[in-house]
Amino acid sequence: MNKRYLAALDQGTTSSRAVIFTTEGQLIASAAFEFKQHYPQPGWVEHDPADILSTQIEALRAAVRQSGIDPNEIAAIGITNQRETTLVWDRHTGQPAHNAIVWQCRRTAPMVEEIEKAGHAALIQEKTGLKPDAYFSATKLRWILEEHGLFAKAEAGDLCFGTVDTWLCWHIVSGHPHVTDATNASRTLLYNIRTQDWDDELLSLFRIPRAMLPRVIDSAQYIGVLNEDILGAPIPVTAIAGDQHAALFGQACFEKGMVKNTYGTGCFMLMNIGDQFQLSQNGLITTTAWRLNGKPTYALEGSVFIGGAAIQWLRDEMQLVQKAAETEPISRELDGNSGVYMVPAFTGLGAPYWNMYARGIVVGLTRGTGRKHLIRAALESVAYQSGDLLKAMASDYGATPKALRVDGGASANRFLMQFQADIMGITVQRPAVLETTALGAALLAGLGVGIFNSLEETASGWHVEDEFRPEMPPEAAARLLKGWKRAIRAAQAWSEEED
Ligand code: ADP
Repeated sequence: MNKRYLAALDQGTTSSRAVIFTTEGQLIASAAFEFKQHYPQPGWVEHDPADILSTQIEALRAAVRQSGIDPNEIAAIGITNQRETTLVWDRHTGQPAHNAIVWQCRRTAPMVEEIEKAGHAALIQEKTGLKPDAYFSATKLRWILEEHGLFAKAEAGDLCFGTVDTWLCWHIVSGHPHVTDATNASRTLLYNIRTQDWDDELLSLFRIPRAMLPRVIDSAQYIGVLNEDILGAPIPVTAIAGDQHAALFGQACFEKGMVKNTYGTGCFMLMNIGDQFQLSQNGLITTTAWRLNGKPTYALEGSVFIGGAAIQWLRDEMQLVQKAAETEPISRELDGNSGVYMVPAFTGLGAPYWNMYARGIVVGLTRGTGRKHLIRAALESVAYQSGDLLKAMASDYGATPKALRVDGGASANRFLMQFQADIMGITVQRPAVLETTALGAALLAGLGVGIFNSLEETASGWHVEDEFRPEMPPEAAARLLKGWKRAIRAAQAWSEEED
């Protein structure tokens, strides 16, 4: 049968999606199922591993049904997933030892503090490109082992550790492969991204037995075939990549210096920095962008904690708009921001500022300030924060990128995209397929199964739909950025004054 399609499993934090593409990268069907979030204590977040699995399988079946294609026409499946989320299960029964501990979960913050106090931060950063943080997998894994007294069992090889990709592969691919790819391994704090191997020094620092770790494979590599009870066809599973890495791939950022930003609840910016590992001098992290034929490509990564969430806040808490999309025409009604800035540091400030104690502020209010100014200030804040990340990346990399490729829900906002281009002075490109995460996983799967033989062939499916070129005079942009910096300083000063 003619194998003209590629499927992506996109296992996210709130839903499991499946998307079917043609081998030219055209989206033909998608389906998503949400699942329950568990909050056992304030700041703790868990998922039921069985929910992750069942919603993902149902999403795949639904997408295939919707597409009307024969499953035998699918050449390969790629997996992309919420990163860092940590699972442990029994190697013999598949039974989870605990719920999945989700990346957002802060339960291990005290453990991280201990590690920092003991002076291990520099070593960890040198090897992993990451900062010690409860966000990454290592302390979550250690917590599960401690909580359930599982060290001996883990050392005996009776337990499997995995991120979500590993959990899915173990259950949906024939023969229970225990694997992860280099991008997901790069988010654990246990993996040396220079040598591309689990690191004994890090393993002993976090007290993690090697016997429970998955085998690390390339991001495009044959893993096995889909269990036949899922779709009735033994479809090869040939790719894994963490969600942001897949999005960078789906945006065809294959060359050094190419960068993408995803505007979702938070914003995630990644820049391809080529095959040389580099540590950031500006508070960014370094990660494996993908690994192909055993060779890693690296990326710098930065995130905005409150991106689209600032717009949700306008809608849900302030009730200034009913729909996120209203912010676009309202912002256009004003000639400018009238000196009003909002810093949505609701949970502190990330790169390049790293101030966990900063809190949100609005500055520059006058008697004439109204609802529209607050709306515009919130939208502008998404662009300023993303602009700060890009500047940090450009400074680390040593050159400003030619363009910024964008995706995610809030990239639909044309005012925001134009404003982003204006204040950064570079072109913003929005592709035809905005499902770049799923597309990236599908394209990697195509590479893994041999439908594409090079990155150039893979890139042929990517094309720009909308381009936003800088139109604002550079002096006007500089004035706005100066105002933003003052607002940032005000947000920081507010936290410093606290007794
Ligand atoms: P996630 O994957 O993080 O759930 P999405 O990519 O679905 O996020 O994007 C949703 C976010 O984008 C929400 O925070 C929402 O407020 C914001 N958003 C959606 N549409 C718009 C719009 N037209 N203008 C501004 N923000 C928007």
